[in-house]
Amino acid sequence: MPQEIRVGTAVSQPGTLQYGQWSALTHPTGHDEFLPVIIAQARVDGPCIWLTAGIHGTEHAGPWVLYELLTQELVDNLRGTIVAIPSLCPMGARVHKYVPYIVDTNPNRLWPDGKPEAAQRDPEKRPPSSLEVAYKHLFALIQETADYLIDYHNAMTGSISFAFRDRVLYRADENAAPNKAEAEALAARLDEMLRAYGHTIINEFAVEQYIKNDLHRSTSGAALLVGRIPAFTAELGTGHMPDPAMVRAALAGTRNVLRWAGMLAGEMEPISGIQLVDPGFPVRRTMTLRAPVPCIALHLKEAGDLVQAGEAVAELRDVWGRPLPQSPLRAEQDGFVFGRGFGIYYYPGDTVLHLAIRDEHPPVGPYPERFFLAVEGEVKPGD
Ligand SMILES: [Zn+2]
Repeated sequence: MPQEIRVGTAVSQPGTLQYGQWSALTHPTGHDEFLPVIIAQARVDGPCIWLTAGIHGTEHAGPWVLYELLTQELVDNLRGTIVAIPSLCPMGARVHKYVPYIVDTNPNRLWPDGKPEAAQRDPEKRPPSSLEVAYKHLFALIQETADYLIDYHNAMTGSISFAFRDRVLYRADENAAPNKAEAEALAARLDEMLRAYGHTIINEFAVEQYIKNDLHRSTSGAALLVGRIPAFTAELGTGHMPDPAMVRAALAGTRNVLRWAGMLAGEMEPISGIQLVDPGFPVRRTMTLRAPVPCIALHLKEAGDLVQAGEAVAELRDVWGRPLPQSPLRAEQDGFVFGRGFGIYYYPGDTVLHLAIRDEHPPVGPYPERFFLAVEGEVKPGD
């Protein structure tokens, strides 16, 4: 008999879909904010996967995938439990905003990072926001129950469907060797899970940049690094206008992950109807193909196109359409385009094309040396 899982008012019942609310926070206006929860539990025991979406209010493909996925028919063929949250941030969804009105930062950078909480917090420093506190509490439930996690997003208008693979970090302390072995085993499991999903794989930034950008505090980053749960971010192309083909391919990919995890019987489904890009080497994201001057950029490459170092990827023109001396913009490395920059008008420094380039960095790496100090520059807690 599967174990009972309770997320707010949603309580699993074997063989059924259960719906409920998880209380996230209270607004100053007295309104309570809840997250919608769906628990699909099989009659047969098995692993537990969390499927989360909608942390960015402009990204609507993920919720769609969950609404299509979670049917009684799936439950009848399932082993284990699916906990789904189609909107991790209703405050963003309501107003169609990437950054919701309750915080001034990317909400997908607010999950726990595993650092010790400062024993005495500086009272002059703003304490964590209600949303960050909510995610901390929800994360405790994820840690308690989840064996796997997928967090669904959309990348940019017209981008390909792909999955971001985070690097697995480990503590390089006195247990560095076993920690590294554990991280390598986790990275191998994650790799299998990503291959089961079957969409194009793009690695995240290398460790230093990854942490500088707070990506270790994304939903999947925190699940992977703090929870040590195989987890990834699925990026499903255009946000506001979900591409039905990508939604279908994400459904097939998700069911394939369930099969890989031993939660669903049957043959792996082919991933069709979307572009699958494999340049033959591992790739990581970069945002460095930037406009050198204020310009009109006319892309010569589209999402999914392979590029070679030195190849022209965009014509740069002035507003009258005359070529600029800096034209054309050229790729600096081999790789492929996973999304174009938005529109044709670019300020200097704007990313013109989002490229996946050859990844020279290992999938596993140590946390930076001073990462776990309670406060940057202070002694270790306990010292
Ligand atoms: Zn997103």
